[in-house]
Amino acid sequence: MDKTYLFPPFRRPAALVSGTSQLFPVNRIFCVAKNYQAHAKEMGMAVDKGAQSPSYFQKNPVNLVACRPEIDYPPGTSDCHYEMELVVAIGKTGFEVKEDDANELIFGYACGLDMTRRDLQRQAKEQGGPWDTAKDFEQSAVLSPIVSKSETGIIDSGRVELRLNQELRQSSDLSMMIWSVPEIIADLSRLYHLEPGDLIYTGTPEGVGSVTAGDLLEGSIERVGGLSLHITGP
Ligand code: MN
Repeated sequence: MDKTYLFPPFRRPAALVSGTSQLFPVNRIFCVAKNYQAHAKEMGMAVDKGAQSPSYFQKNPVNLVACRPEIDYPPGTSDCHYEMELVVAIGKTGFEVKEDDANELIFGYACGLDMTRRDLQRQAKEQGGPWDTAKDFEQSAVLSPIVSKSETGIIDSGRVELRLNQELRQSSDLSMMIWSVPEIIADLSRLYHLEPGDLIYTGTPEGVGSVTAGDLLEGSIERVGGLSLHITGP
């Protein structure tokens, strides 16, 4: 007997591809937890690259906010933080990819905000529990249009900045990443079969802080572009 859906299956979320009419269907959202030393230190835990591997978490793709100008202040927190990040959009399959070949998997780059319920993250750390409610909540993965690698070339350096209500709060350079983009792709591809549509949020530099309803976040990354996001009232 032919099966039918009880209700319409959910559509896959998608991102815009800058300067085209094409959509980038989003598969998984991987995030690197601590990838700038100055941010790791402001979180109270320096990273020893020689002794540690990158650590990752995921966000459910349904929590993606692609090219929308606002999000609601999230429930369940009184300390919601911005984290401005370079996002890598994967365009090819890859498993156990060598670092030298890793850039070939990249379709393009975008600006992203890894919105974080910092109070819930602090609580999770104290209790030794998972980060899910701190990191993976509705509207928590903000994304600008993706710029294809054919436009930008390989991005391995450049200013990354975030302004809160026009005040500069985060300002660093992508070259300050502890693990470079090819190192992340090579490492992540040992753990997962990377697929077209996967996104990788590559970690945030120092200067994270909290937002309140009414705030305006403006992020930019050299050669990649920018994003602008209003936080609306609870
Ligand atoms: Mn982050």
